[in-house]
Amino acid sequence: MSLILVHTARFAEHQTPPGHPERPERADVLDAIAARWRGRGTEVVAPRAATSEQLLRVHDAAYVQHIAQTAGRATALDPDTYTSPESYEIALLAAGACVDAVERVMGGAHRAGFALVRPPGHHAERDRAMGFCLFNNVAVAAAHARALGARKVAIVDYDVHHGNGTQHIFEADPHVLYVSTHQYPYYPGTGAASEVGREAGRGFTINLPLEAGAVDEDYQIAFTRIVLPVLRQFEPDLVVVSAGFDAHAHDPLGGMRLTAAAFGAMTAELRALAEECCRGRIVAAVEGGYDLQALGASLDAAIDALEGPARAAEWPVSGIGSTRGEETCAATAAAIRPFWTV
Ligand SMILES: [Zn+2]
Repeated sequence: MSLILVHTARFAEHQTPPGHPERPERADVLDAIAARWRGRGTEVVAPRAATSEQLLRVHDAAYVQHIAQTAGRATALDPDTYTSPESYEIALLAAGACVDAVERVMGGAHRAGFALVRPPGHHAERDRAMGFCLFNNVAVAAAHARALGARKVAIVDYDVHHGNGTQHIFEADPHVLYVSTHQYPYYPGTGAASEVGREAGRGFTINLPLEAGAVDEDYQIAFTRIVLPVLRQFEPDLVVVSAGFDAHAHDPLGGMRLTAAAFGAMTAELRALAEECCRGRIVAAVEGGYDLQALGASLDAAIDALEGPARAAEWPVSGIGSTRGEETCAATAAAIRPFWTV
């Protein structure tokens, strides 16, 4: 009934061109982390490939077909997003790992699941590969949970980039809440506080756009004032985490200044929320994180927050003065007050 890690060494087989930040060496970090936790007694299982049925809940058939046709070939899908001969198969395993974690958690076999995957997923749109992402792993996971009977799923995305794909896939759906903290303005350009969803989904998209340079305390304020109060009011049946680690201070892409411990604190807060709302059901999936050492330390802290008995989140104190969190919370609160008490 505790934590399950879903992982395979095959994630290294998705190759990107030399110098690309989303490189196969990231899979070596995932391997090392999986081995370390296995050594401490955490269960680690290999994923199955996601099925067409699972993918088609969030992607267009023509798009899935387009990615399938890259099998056996090296292609450029967009200026940042490449395939190698194995990529289609590995992307199916990444999405499938998230599905596996959801099945185990929704079925009650485990309380929490963490999919240690690459390629990442949150930029992948319904009909387009983008930003290193082929299939939207977390969207596939949330849709699978809904298919298994979860009435409401909350996705929290703390990757430094806004998860444009995830937002767009669910922006008209009141059953899937999407909450993102991200650097803004920045790639991919979406994620303004004013983006709150559309049609029946209005109010179920929450964006916390933070100016570059944000520190641990800014994220703590964002979680305390907005993320957690909204989640408490939403009362999800499952919490899904887009666990990107590129807001770490050492990340070569992100401009934030988080410590590894902050990722532990955010994950611990989300676990506590899940314990409060949905018997602890939480599934996380790795998104970005491009400094190998920072990725390893941050992922380790996040896994630690989900393993063993629940503990209170321990937010680190950077002592660096910043008002970014306050400013962001004011803008987001103004945008979402018609829908939530914050
Ligand atoms: Zn990212």
